[in-house]
Amino acid sequence: MSDLAGKTGVIVGVANKRSIAWAIAQAVSAAGARLALTYQDERLRENVEELAACLHDPLILPCDVTSDEQIGLLFDRVGEGFGGVDFLVHGAAFAPRAELTAPFVQTSREGFRIALDVSAYSLIALARGALPWMERNGGGSILTLTYLGSQRVFPNYNVMGVAKAALEASVRYLAWDLGPRNIRVNAISAGPIKTLAASGISGFSDILHVYRDRAPLRRNIEAAEVADAAVFLLGPAARGVTGEILSVDAGFHAMGL
Ligand code: NAP
Repeated sequence: MSDLAGKTGVIVGVANKRSIAWAIAQAVSAAGARLALTYQDERLRENVEELAACLHDPLILPCDVTSDEQIGLLFDRVGEGFGGVDFLVHGAAFAPRAELTAPFVQTSREGFRIALDVSAYSLIALARGALPWMERNGGGSILTLTYLGSQRVFPNYNVMGVAKAALEASVRYLAWDLGPRNIRVNAISAGPIKTLAASGISGFSDILHVYRDRAPLRRNIEAAEVADAAVFLLGPAARGVTGEILSVDAGFHAMGL
């Protein structure tokens, strides 16, 4: 029997076939899970529906993570459809383009608010929405995606680095808060992967080259490698793991230079 056989999960952050959340959706589905995938707005609905056609009986639902109302409706409908939720994958992040090109000192109050709201606060709001349905299943597992720019400076990553630092701290506080309810909360810190979100970071190709040259494994990683780690963290093999930031980055985080 597969790791996630009979489990139900919600995956937020599938934009297209390159999305890390989509790689995770495929892997957890192959491990036996039934999924609800969300799309941010009508613009992406068709994309997500087309991708999801290969999954077993998925739910496809709208959710802009900046809206508490939409998060509430999402979990009402997932709860009705599945009767409970075993896991949540949070793969949403956004910062206005200007914040990723201007010098960091020019970060605007509004740009900071938007980046932190979409990329960090949304984890807390989604966890709160999932909570009653996870409790109904006797516990659950929550996973988000972060980047080393939370701790080190990557030129142009700017306010996203601040948002990822807030996200990682939120993982630890949620782990403490939800642990007594048998809900685990973890993050994967992924190495750079060419996706839609990554294309917004100027100089992203340079980052890929630096990793390939200096990471212990001397290569970049693939989304499928993040997905395999996600299956581990979401499933029973990681039942003793919470509050953890697991690096899947070919070892780059270990290097001093
Ligand atoms: P992606 O395919 O562009 O995924 C980002 C997702 O966030 C998109 O589905 C995007 O939808 C969604 N999103 C943005 N604003 C939203 C909102 N208000 N409501 C709901 N969804 C919203 O890029 P990705 O690289 O796979 O990113 C997934 C996660 O991995 C992000 O947290 C990212 O920071 C993290 N990560 C990426 C890398 C990398 O190198 N690619 C490395 C480490 C960590 P829209 O397209 O509609 O905006």
